[in-house]
Amino acid sequence: MKITVSVIKADVGGIGGHTRPSDNLIQAVRDTVNASSDLLIDHYIGYCGDDVHIVMSHTHGVDNEKIHKLAYDAFVAGTAVAKNEGLYGAGQDLLKDSFSGNVKGMGPGVAELEFEERPNEAFTVFAADKTEPGCFNYPMYRLFVDALSNTGLIVNKSLAKGVDFHIMDVEEATIAKLSLWQDKPVLEAALMYPGRYVISSITTKDGEPIMDASTDRLHNIAGTYVGKDDPVCIVRTQKMFPATEEAGSVFNNPHYVAGNTRGSHNMPLMPVKLNSAATINFCIPIVQSLVFSMHDGKFTGPFDGFSTPDWDYVREQATIKALAIRSQGFIHPATLVPDELEYAEGYKDVMTGLKEKMVPMDSKSDTSERKENYEDPD
Ligand SMILES: [Mg+2]
Repeated sequence: MKITVSVIKADVGGIGGHTRPSDNLIQAVRDTVNASSDLLIDHYIGYCGDDVHIVMSHTHGVDNEKIHKLAYDAFVAGTAVAKNEGLYGAGQDLLKDSFSGNVKGMGPGVAELEFEERPNEAFTVFAADKTEPGCFNYPMYRLFVDALSNTGLIVNKSLAKGVDFHIMDVEEATIAKLSLWQDKPVLEAALMYPGRYVISSITTKDGEPIMDASTDRLHNIAGTYVGKDDPVCIVRTQKMFPATEEAGSVFNNPHYVAGNTRGSHNMPLMPVKLNSAATINFCIPIVQSLVFSMHDGKFTGPFDGFSTPDWDYVREQATIKALAIRSQGFIHPATLVPDELEYAEGYKDVMTGLKEKMVPMDSKSDTSERKENYEDPD
């Protein structure tokens, strides 16, 4: 049976800041999805920091108007609660007032895979908060390209053949298919810049879908910055795909990503337990792991992939790295380059103060001064 797994997420309000949605907000989303649950085979609703994610299985294919509208309506209902409760950023990810056929480009993030279900279908949803879509560049590289991280690339025949990466240029809205192993250096050159080149999806050489990620950058959609992008991705696991443990373990080295408070810093991506709030300790970027089994479209799970004791150690490493880079304050590379700053307009305003004080250097006097001070070493 062909099943579609759709994950649609949005931030429509947080308690006292960008922490987590309220219970009433989540309930409003849940009630709206339940009211139209005849469209779905199954669903799960949770949150990562201030982002609510709706995981759905159905038979309507990707980019389906009814499915997207269902999620959009649920976020509208959540927004109403958020406004009532005075939550911070109420409705911040709903950029347009009325639904227009597809939730893409309207603010919410979407990751979707349609596939012929295997007898023991397994997949993991990775949901992140306080960071950008490019945060998956490094872990997905480890998973599908780096045999030092994933022995499956040697011993699994399907993975050893190499996969196809579909890389999006989020500035130009173009997409390129890069095939392993021949395009490896080109792929590496692209993944080097997570702020611009982002993994959109990954397939086998035969076109079987393995991974799909939400790739919209909100500040590009809205023209100005309205919130960090907080991506989700789905990774199918087991058999011809990476083992679930391989997919999880590529998050065990908390790498630096763009995001954090005011979306303006480079900070490590910390794996956290399901339905964790974003920390008010600088809003360290976070990622959650929702591990599912599925049969006839019915979910078992999610198992909380980052809940076991070993991940406490990884969280400690992330905290150490976070405090280390924040100890250098606003000096690069602790902060992002000006073009990437969430509050770039504010930064530009401040910089006009510097420009106004700038005067051309007197090149003559400068040269003579340097000559006077120069002593011939001989
Ligand atoms: Mg968020």
